[in-house]
Parts: sequence; C-alpha cells; structure tokens
Amino acid sequence: MKAEVLLNVANICHLSKVNGPGIRSVVWVQGCRRNCPGCINPQTHPHKAVKLLDPVELGKQLCQIEQTNGITLSGGEPFEQAKACSILAETVKSHGKTVMVFTGFLFEHLITCQNTDVQHFLGQIDLVVAGPYIQELACESRLWQASSNQTVHFLTPDLSRFLPWEDIEVFEINSSGDKLMFTGFPDRQDIEWMKEILGYTNSIESAQNGDGHGEDLNGGMNGQ
Ligand code: SF4
Repeated sequence: MKAEVLLNVANICHLSKVNGPGIRSVVWVQGCRRNCPGCINPQTHPHKAVKLLDPVELGKQLCQIEQTNGITLSGGEPFEQAKACSILAETVKSHGKTVMVFTGFLFEHLITCQNTDVQHFLGQIDLVVAGPYIQELACESRLWQASSNQTVHFLTPDLSRFLPWEDIEVFEINSSGDKLMFTGFPDRQDIEWMKEILGYTNSIESAQNGDGHGEDLNGGMNGQ
C-alpha cells in the first residue's frame, strides 16, 4: 500500500545510549528553516530529498530492535515534517516504545499551535527538548541541552523513570553504514580526545546533538 506521506531522513543510528533516556534508535530528519547561528548540523538544513521513507515501515523496523526503549527524533527540524513524524511516532507508540524529540521550536509555541498535525505529533511524544540553539548560551553541563535556553518537558511518565540524569552516558561512538559517528553531548575536551584516538585529521564535517548539537566524525551525526 502506498504511504500516505514520506519522511525525509538525513541519517539513522541504532542502540544509542546518549540521545535520550535508555537505549534508543535515533532518526535525524532532513530539513530545518531556522538556521540557528552555530548550528553544528548545517547539512540537515536544506529541504532536499535525502532518504524518503515510509514512516509506518520505518517505525515497524525500528521497533524490531528489542533492546531499544524507543526512538529519538532529531534533525533538522522534526516539526517541519509534523505529519510524517506523527505517523512514525504513532507507529512506535503502538509497539509499546517511547518517543523523544529535539526541536528548535519553543514549547509554548508548539502547545498553542493550531495545526492538527503538530498537535497529533505532540500527543505521541513522551519527552521533548525544545528551543533553538543559541550560540551565546552554549553549555556543556546540561544533559540533552546544547544551549541553556532549551527546555526539557516530560509529557508522559514513561521516560522520567530514567532520572536522575547524572547516571546517563554523555557521548559514544556509533556507526551508520560505513561511517563512524561520534554522537551525544561531548564537551570540547572529549571531542579533541576522540579525534586523537581515532587519528581523525580532517575537519569535522557534521555533527548533531540535541537540537543540532554535538560532534561527528566521518560525516556522521549527533543528537539533533
Ligand atoms: S540547531 Fe536545530 S533548530 Fe537550529 S538550525 Fe540547527 S537543526 Fe535547526
């Protein structure tokens, strides 16, 4: 059956422990119009087709990974593909798994938005980290927040059981296809240390963490 809408995906990684509570599959969507200065993932900004995937099939596939607690949607901007993301999230929730989202929108904006796709998507989310990346407020000490203006909202109790956050790992090396991915919320010292260990001499091409923040090796991604 033909998909109702396709999700434009920049990248996916599995079994991540640093992009939200528990063990998660991370889906970085392609496309963000916000252009936050200093965003670490500018390659995800253009709304050009990268991987166009059926969100129902993607959700089913991700839920087949038994070890995962759920998915994290990052970007790019998930709410710029609210309909496709809501279908993916609904599929994941129907399998008893959880949904976390990083967004550049303010939480107040989202909850008062009249768009039905946005509201349906919000209704599927367990945990959201909201707000644009503000370079002047960049922080390394707040888990899942790349700048201190970003706010964390547990919309259901399903993920709050992972608190306290102090016990949660901060960064990891993951893989996506033939790429190594340094993902999570590392501080600058961690990044230099990992680059040295991996013998990485080229410039960092992309990174993503939380809302477009983190560091990435060999063109991978981090958080949002
Ligand atoms: S930080 Fe997030 S919201 Fe801002 S431009 Fe980057 S991807 Fe978009």
